This record gives sequence, C-alpha cells and structure tokens, in this order.
Amino acid sequence: MEILKYTEDHKAFRKRAREFIAKEITPHVEDWEEAHITPKWAWKKMGEAGFLCTAVSEKYGGLGGDFLYSVIVAEEMIRTNHTGLATMLHSDVVVPYIDSFGTEDQKKKYLPGCVSGEIITALAMTEPDAGSDLAGMTATAEQDGDKIVLNGAKTFISNGINSHLVIVAARAPSVSNPYESVSLFLVEDGTPGFKRGRHLDKMGFHSQDTAELFFTNCRIPAENRLGEMGSGFKMLMSKLQQERLMTAIGAQAACELILEWTRDFCVKTTDASGKPLSKYQANMFALVEMACEIKLGRTFLDKLIAEHAAGEFVVVETSMAKYWTTDLAKRLTVRCIDLFGEYGIMEACPLPRAFRDLRVMSIFAGTNEIMKGIAAKFMGL
Ligand SMILES: Cc1cc2nc3c(=O)[nH]c(=O)nc-3n(C[C@H](O)[C@H](O)[C@H](O)COP(=O)(O)OP(=O)(O)OC[C@H]3O[C@@H](n4cnc5c(N)ncnc54)[C@H](O)[C@@H]3O)c2cc1C
Repeated sequence: MEILKYTEDHKAFRKRAREFIAKEITPHVEDWEEAHITPKWAWKKMGEAGFLCTAVSEKYGGLGGDFLYSVIVAEEMIRTNHTGLATMLHSDVVVPYIDSFGTEDQKKKYLPGCVSGEIITALAMTEPDAGSDLAGMTATAEQDGDKIVLNGAKTFISNGINSHLVIVAARAPSVSNPYESVSLFLVEDGTPGFKRGRHLDKMGFHSQDTAELFFTNCRIPAENRLGEMGSGFKMLMSKLQQERLMTAIGAQAACELILEWTRDFCVKTTDASGKPLSKYQANMFALVEMACEIKLGRTFLDKLIAEHAAGEFVVVETSMAKYWTTDLAKRLTVRCIDLFGEYGIMEACPLPRAFRDLRVMSIFAGTNEIMKGIAAKFMGL
C-alpha cells in the first residue's frame, strides 16, 4: 500500500519533469560543475516549463499545486546528480517566506518572477560568527525615515552570486532580546551598499554559488520588510519544518538513486571468472542491508510528507528524518564506492560527486547535532 496518494495529474507531472530534466538540464551539469556556477538561463528554462515554485497560487503565475508537486520536482532534480540549480531551495524554502508573509504588493512584485525564473532568490541568515546559534547574529537594520539601513556580513549563502532577491535577517540594535529584535528584509540586486564577497570554494556543491554578502549602509525602502517588525525568528522557526523535510527528501532520493547505480553495476560487472559482483555473498548482503535501510527511510519519510502536507506539526520527527537520511546518505556513498572498486573513485563514476555533495547535507539546514538536540529536548532529556 502506498502511503502517498499520487493522482494521475501528479504522475503525468513527474513524467514530464523527468523527461524535461533529462533533456534540458542533465546534459549541462558537467559544464556547470567545472565552471563552479549554474547559468541563469537554466533557471528560466525550469520556470518556463512550470517546474519552479509549484505551490505558488495561479494568481501569481504558479501552479497552485499541493506539496506533492514540490516533492516530485525535488526528487527528479536529484537524478541530475548536481546541486547548482538549487530549485528546491528557491521554490520550497525561500519563496514560501514571500508567499506566506508578504504583503499583496510584495507578492505581486516578486512572485511572478520567482515562478518564471527571472528572479532567483536567496536566504541570508548565517554570519561569520553566527551559524547554529542565530541568536548571535550581529547584522543590523535601523529605520531612517522611510528607509531601512542594513549593515553587516552574511556568509555561506546559497545562490549568493546569482540571486536577484535576497531575504536578509537583521536585528534592531535597540532591542536586546534577540528573539524579538530580528526582522526579515527583501534586498534587490543592485541596491547601493549591497555587495557580493567571495564565491566560496567548497569540497562539494561545486556548481552551486555559495557566497559571502556584505551590507554597508545599504538603504532599502521600509516597505521591503517582510512581516511584522521583530517577527523574524518566529517566521524562520515556522518555515524550518519544511526546509528540513526538503533536505530529508533530497537525501532519501539520493540514497535510492545511489543504490540503483550500485545494484546495476554489481549485476552487470563480472570478475575474471565471469561471475557478476552481485553474486558474491558479501556484496549481495551489503546491497540487501542498504535496501532495507532505504525502505525504512522511505516509509518514515512518506508518512512525514503526508503529515506535513496535511498541515501537522512534525518538527521533532522532521529533525530526526533530516539527521537520519543525511547520515544514511553519507554511509551509503562510502559503502557503494567500495562496491564499485577502482572505478568508484574515478570522476567518470557518479559516486565521487554524490559523496562530496551528500557530505555537506548534514551541516546545512541545521546541523545533525542540532537535529538531535531538538529530538532530545522533546524526549525530556
Ligand atoms: C553548502 C552550504 C550552503 C549553505 N547555505 C546557506 C544559506 O543559503 N543561507 C544561510 O543562512 N546559511 C547557509 N549555510 C550555513 C549553514 O546553515 C550553517 O553552516 C549551519 O547553520 C551550521 O553553522 P556553522 O557552520 O557556523 O557551524 P557551527 O554552528 O559553528 O557548529 C560547529 C559544530 O558545532 C556543533 N554545534 C554548534 N552548536 C551546537 C549545539 N547547540 N549543540 C550541539 N552541537 C552544536 C555543530 O553541530 C557543528 O558540528 C550553508 C552552509 C553550507 C555548508
């Protein structure tokens, strides 16, 4: 019995997404990995084909789709084995802030471009001295007449180079309680005082532009504040469940893909005696053990997807799923590289890139230690 009830429309959408991505996106991935950036035209292609921001209402150009459409695009994008075209971050993490908390004017101004891919978005929370502990953020936002003046530095911001619109978290210096002082602001590319810093050179996520951002007396219109003054933390917390669930969905889909590659390789590849690698008991059992863990992950995750889609509060289970699936992905890539043998460490094999990219997932969207801390608190530990 399937936990998730995909309709015929969902299935047709997945088929269309798989074919489109295989034809229009995957053939370019090697170039983007080498260039360490993904071109903006790729975003527009995804937008034109209707694969960005599927949850946004038709009123603003979106599909008005349920959460399963987001899941489908996220899972199909994993099949490209690259992270540069970070549609999941844009569609299901950043844009939902505008969709949920934006004024009608903000929605009319930005959402159609987010859907079409004309506007690439980023979310800037992390600072050089504030990662897990966002309460330590020091970027400031001060009202000056009808303007807000932003000052501070952000780092490790995904889409940091390509973004046209950045949601920036900054605090009012006059309010000492960090949970009441942070607000979110919409900052457009080209605003005087907003500069990009280094494009960070990482062990993985090569095609993704992770960058530093600097704000120096950056004056934005006061109407570019998102939500109520001082409600930044509340807004961030309310969206974390979906951000972490999307990360788990990506990790789970990657595990399934990696097992598929490895199973096929072990079935097709023979040793000198002509015996397929899959017929050695050690390899066979390794594949079965991984398949079991993947099935456990899928069952847990699909239940969470259904609960999240129904609007349920599943923060604790989502934290567990984010930790467990991203950890599983790390273990799996290491084991599968061994099963591939020498080819497993060649760049021509998809595993080295998957290994590097998946390694990063236990760190962002809240580190796995923070995930365990959340679960521990709810277990009364
Ligand atoms: C590829 C990539 C993309 C990113 N994209 C974005 C983005 O778009 N926007 C954005 O704002 N940020 C982004 N980040 C930043 C990311 O959210 C932070 O890296 C993350 O929050 C962890 O912060 P930190 O790296 O400063 O680690 P730290 O907080 O310094 O943690 C270091 C270590 O200490 C542990 N630790 C810290 N505090 C605790 C605690 N209370 N309990 C237990 N253990 C703890 C951590 O688990 C970790 O192991 C990105 C990071 C990466 C790697």
